[in-house]
Amino acid sequence: MQKHVDTMEFIELTPGAEVKTTRHGWRAKCLQRLIRLELPVPRTVALPCDTVRAIAAGHAIDRDHLSEAFPSDFLVSVRSSPENPEWGGPGTVLNVGMNDSMLARLTESHGAEAAEALYLRFVQNYATHVDRLDPDMFAEEPGPGALERAMATYRQELDEGFPQDPVHQLAQVLRSMARAWEGTTARLLREAKGAPADAVLGLVVQQMALGIGPGLSGSGTIQFVDSVTGAQQITGRFRGQSQGRKRAVETLYLTRDPRGASLEEASPETFAKLQEFGDRCRIGLREEMQLEFAIENSDVAVIDAVRVVRSSRAAVRVAVRLAEQEIIPREDALLRVEPRALSELLHYQVDPRAPRDVLARGIAASPGAATGKLVFSAAAAQAAAARDERCILVRRETSPEDIRGMHASVAVLTERGGITSHAAVIARGLGLPCIVGCSEIQVNSRDRSLTGPKGRVFREGDLVTLDGSSGEVLVGEAAMLEPALDEGFQTLLHWADTVRDIGIRANADTPDDARTARMFEADGIGLCRTEHMFFDEDRLTVMREMIFADTPNDRRVALERLLPMQREDFKALFDIMAGQPVCIRLFDPPLHEFLPHGREGMRELAEALDRPLSEVTRRVEALSEFNPMLGMRGVRLGVTVPEIYDMQARAIFEATIEASENGAQVVPEIMIPLVSAQREVEIVKTRIDAVASAVKNERKADFTYRLGVMVETPRAALRAGEIAEHAAFLSFGTNDLTQMTYGLSRDDAGRFMSTYVNQGVYSEDPFHILDVEGVGELLLIGASRGRAARPNVTISVCGEHGGNPESIAFCRAAGMDYVSCSPFRVPVARLAAAHFAL
Ligand code: PEP
Ligand code: MG
Repeated sequence: MQKHVDTMEFIELTPGAEVKTTRHGWRAKCLQRLIRLELPVPRTVALPCDTVRAIAAGHAIDRDHLSEAFPSDFLVSVRSSPENPEWGGPGTVLNVGMNDSMLARLTESHGAEAAEALYLRFVQNYATHVDRLDPDMFAEEPGPGALERAMATYRQELDEGFPQDPVHQLAQVLRSMARAWEGTTARLLREAKGAPADAVLGLVVQQMALGIGPGLSGSGTIQFVDSVTGAQQITGRFRGQSQGRKRAVETLYLTRDPRGASLEEASPETFAKLQEFGDRCRIGLREEMQLEFAIENSDVAVIDAVRVVRSSRAAVRVAVRLAEQEIIPREDALLRVEPRALSELLHYQVDPRAPRDVLARGIAASPGAATGKLVFSAAAAQAAAARDERCILVRRETSPEDIRGMHASVAVLTERGGITSHAAVIARGLGLPCIVGCSEIQVNSRDRSLTGPKGRVFREGDLVTLDGSSGEVLVGEAAMLEPALDEGFQTLLHWADTVRDIGIRANADTPDDARTARMFEADGIGLCRTEHMFFDEDRLTVMREMIFADTPNDRRVALERLLPMQREDFKALFDIMAGQPVCIRLFDPPLHEFLPHGREGMRELAEALDRPLSEVTRRVEALSEFNPMLGMRGVRLGVTVPEIYDMQARAIFEATIEASENGAQVVPEIMIPLVSAQREVEIVKTRIDAVASAVKNERKADFTYRLGVMVETPRAALRAGEIAEHAAFLSFGTNDLTQMTYGLSRDDAGRFMSTYVNQGVYSEDPFHILDVEGVGELLLIGASRGRAARPNVTISVCGEHGGNPESIAFCRAAGMDYVSCSPFRVPVARLAAAHFAL
């Protein structure tokens, strides 16, 4: 016994009807808005979600009710109307109500061919969607006899003729769509798109505008901006004598087209009307819409409208234009652009419309795309750059020795490593597209090849494209979109700056980085990792001499040669940053990172230093540590080999004086890494103050500087109170702090991180998204103890997390003064910070 639905309710969409997105779905709501804007929308009736759910559950549909709502002298379409358009829903069914008598009527008015084609489409649709017959049996294109054959097949399969009662047809279509929504596949699909488990569906039934018949008739879509670029440009399609997406009987382009006639030329009035509808939607719905329309004998009907699908760059342009036209407030424009999407705009990007031959997938570690020839060593990369060839450096993983090779490459690919591995950090800093942890490939540096899935082998010189935004390695060259740092982008970010209430600085090690930081309008440099300055060929040798020095005096001699180089480095940074704060971190890594590893390298070093190979080997071995990241590095070097910090402090102060002479006054910030005890800070501070006094005396000049501490050991966070007594600022190095809080190597965790995340051990990679529960608590403890001891202490984060929107939200809530991130992440951070302030 079928039950009747108590709640069976149909509501006609009129300007005053009570239509709600939550009750009737987005499409019903949108159509009602179009009706309010007085667009020519055919009569439309909405079925609320409750009703649809009841129908799916087997409640009978009341015939009388249905025939009252839909008199049977016209055809109708049925479309799905979920709460959110992203959630999909069963496909549209057109021409419900078509039967033999309607065929006769339409044959008279529209001709036999058009009428039969329409009937055939409906029978095909009905048979496959409602009766679930095999689509292959109903695949014939319209043509002589096709309709009869489809009818015969139908009768044969179901032992009865095609249903002639329009009300019965409609009830069946409604039921099949309601049930389709409840199917397991549909449910999984929409849940993957973020729909809740109990997401409901509304349906809309609309009188058909036929799009066929005498005079100018057809159907199409039109939008007024380009989906990829966001430029104001009319695009869409128009098919003469057609419905929906089905094959056109007549070809008529939408806009003027050299290939043939167009709607724009054939009927300028109709075209102008469509444009006017677009304007009305833009203003009324405060959005760029794509209109679906039908024309019947020159009468235009607007059947449906959806928000124009758009790329990130189009999203920026559209949002800014709508605000500039005062259609939406600036705050809305800011909120309409997803911060992360901006990173796509800063780089070349694989054209989303282009075909892709994916060789392998890895972790998308630095966005943007580049095409180049494969190389398997830093030396090969430099050789390729010297030949002016674009190359992609492939390594199992990178080490500091590869930096020069990375500079010479257009992109970097590694088989191992995670989001904060060496390759990833350096590539983000350089703005190079980078994929790490690409375990689908095997790198064989010896024979200069890589093997991908299915045994595909690629050799040095083969052309590939790296898409660092998606993590895909593509075979060959791919069509690209240029970076889009255009006016719209700049405007949006300036609006963001007026709203945000947390500073955004950049991590910048080189003049190039600093220029990028300026270009992206960072509020200064929050972390300059000075050790990266020592990897250039000429400096590496002096650096090694310094490391090998037997006495403090020998060491001083080597450092004196490094001093002018460092002074120039810092002066360049100060000049470029033009008075904005520059925070320089003193030397941090273990010394052995500067020494060669292989035999060949040792021999070269022995030669360069003019020492016996055995001695070089012995010294290198003596410097090696079991656990260098927890060994002699950071401030521990500053305490045990203080001459290095002395030299750096002197270089900073001398550069300060020189840069201030002809430019803006510089107040350098000097930061001590890897501190874990107050006494470390005292010792270093005493020496640096002494260097400052000496330089002031020698140069007869005055300057001020700020000395601060990097909080990157759990102990420093816990003892932040006493540490802050000697520190003008505390900057949390969340990379090391994460590593040490978890006891998890940032260089090795990539190997099992995906297993850990997949099994829900960690909800995210903590090197990527700040672990607010653990590391975050240390941040809060450190910040509050630091502030309690020294209320005006500046507090910031300079780990990789600084560029991550969720982490910025946390830092802002914790009352931090600024975050500092890779220069190429600055725009994302500026917009994200504005979002949180709104
Ligand atoms: C950190 O540890 O968070 C940091 C910024 O320093 P580095 O990444 O150079 O160790
Ligand atoms: Mg660190």
